Amino acid sequence: MSGANPSAPVVIVGAAMGGLRAAESLRRSGYTGAIRVVGEELHAPYNRPPLSKEVLATDVTHEAVAFPSRAEMGDVEWMLGVRASTVDLEARTLTTDDGQVQPWRALVIATGLRARRLDFRPIAGRHVVRSLDDAMALRAELTAGARVVVVGSGFLGCELSATASKLGCSVTVVTPSVEPMIRPLGSLVGQEMRRRLNVEGVEIFTGVTVAAINGGTSVESVELSDGRVVPADVVIESVGSDCNIEWLEGTGLDMGDGVLADNAMRAVTTEGVALDDVYVVGDIARFPNPMFDDVPRRIEHWNIPTDTGKRAGAVLAAHLADDGSFDDVVAKPFAPMPSFWSNQFEIKLQAYGLLGLVTDDDVRILEGDLADQVAVGYYRDDRLVGVLGIGMKAALLPYRKQIAEGGV
Ligand SMILES: Cc1cc2nc3c(=O)[nH]c(=O)nc-3n(C[C@H](O)[C@H](O)[C@H](O)COP(=O)(O)OP(=O)(O)OC[C@H]3O[C@@H](n4cnc5c(N)ncnc54)[C@H](O)[C@@H]3O)c2cc1C
Repeated sequence: MSGANPSAPVVIVGAAMGGLRAAESLRRSGYTGAIRVVGEELHAPYNRPPLSKEVLATDVTHEAVAFPSRAEMGDVEWMLGVRASTVDLEARTLTTDDGQVQPWRALVIATGLRARRLDFRPIAGRHVVRSLDDAMALRAELTAGARVVVVGSGFLGCELSATASKLGCSVTVVTPSVEPMIRPLGSLVGQEMRRRLNVEGVEIFTGVTVAAINGGTSVESVELSDGRVVPADVVIESVGSDCNIEWLEGTGLDMGDGVLADNAMRAVTTEGVALDDVYVVGDIARFPNPMFDDVPRRIEHWNIPTDTGKRAGAVLAAHLADDGSFDDVVAKPFAPMPSFWSNQFEIKLQAYGLLGLVTDDDVRILEGDLADQVAVGYYRDDRLVGVLGIGMKAALLPYRKQIAEGGV
């Protein structure tokens, strides 16, 4: 690449948690130059987990979920409501959908994911939940008595089912899986979660897909692959997500699944070259975590945008400082502990590690009773690589430590 323009800003694309944490980390790591954050959404960065919970259930506004603005962020420039369309890594420019071509000194890729849609014609009553605007649009339709079909039984689908059910809706989950949340919880816990959701009144149809969404101007029913027809006023599609990588096409970055990064969160090209001035953070980043092995993976958990944003900011600040510290900062160990939680009715799930690395035979009950409070261990080659607690948060801490120390 050609030489950097030191007067150009560091440009962060994606104004959500990952982008915010990278900007904060740049400042905390001593970088005092210009930072510009370009984000497609009109809202300043906010917390997404409440979108499937409190935001649907109460009158929560952007203010209530917005991340606090820290003092060191005062001079960061925010370009909101603007979408990155292309980037030129040679010329070091970013083109946005308002026609501007912006120079950058270094680039941080933080564009995350978008909700995948079912391939049916648009019709009122169909929803996804990824953004605050999505959640607010859905909230208006989750009135007591509404018939809701949730397509997909991952964490998000199950959380949305629980929230809709608590609001008085009658909820049916439709899923091709054998059990809800089977990936990554496994069939033992998946089966138990199905039982618990059933007890709360959520109906779950497993092993089926959606054949059609019927209705005139709005949803009337959902036709399943086995011929059943489920009456519906609202369909919530929770069928996975896609990485927002289109603006990076033609850059030569490795975009096999998200964007490949090395352990310093530097973007890596298809030729295996890590770029010192292009970084990747958050849900879109596929990076190796030596806590488990050297296989790069994307991890869609809340702590990852924070941990990778901090790491990218620190490495990039050292690169820009050009004071000889770069190699030492890159060599610092970086092995973030994946962690997620999910609240469904009164069921509180908390997990550490990578549960999805494990096959069903390596899932063991560590403490408690599956039908009540329980800690479940996920083993690979006899090493603990993940732990899940249902209503057992504090008891997980020794297992968390064990995973961090190599699982033995
Ligand atoms: C509804 C919901 C509930 C969740 N609940 C939990 C939970 O309970 N527990 C848990 O551990 N995790 C949860 N998560 C996951 C967690 O919130 C995510 O891991 C985290 O939000 C990812 O942050 P990010 O900054 O990497 O990406 P994102 O939050 O996806 O942000 C990317 C941003 O980039 C913007 N963007 C995309 N393309 C462009 C472009 N071309 N130009 C400019 N901007 C662009 C997007 O509009 C978006 O604002 C939940 C996620 C969702 C959606």
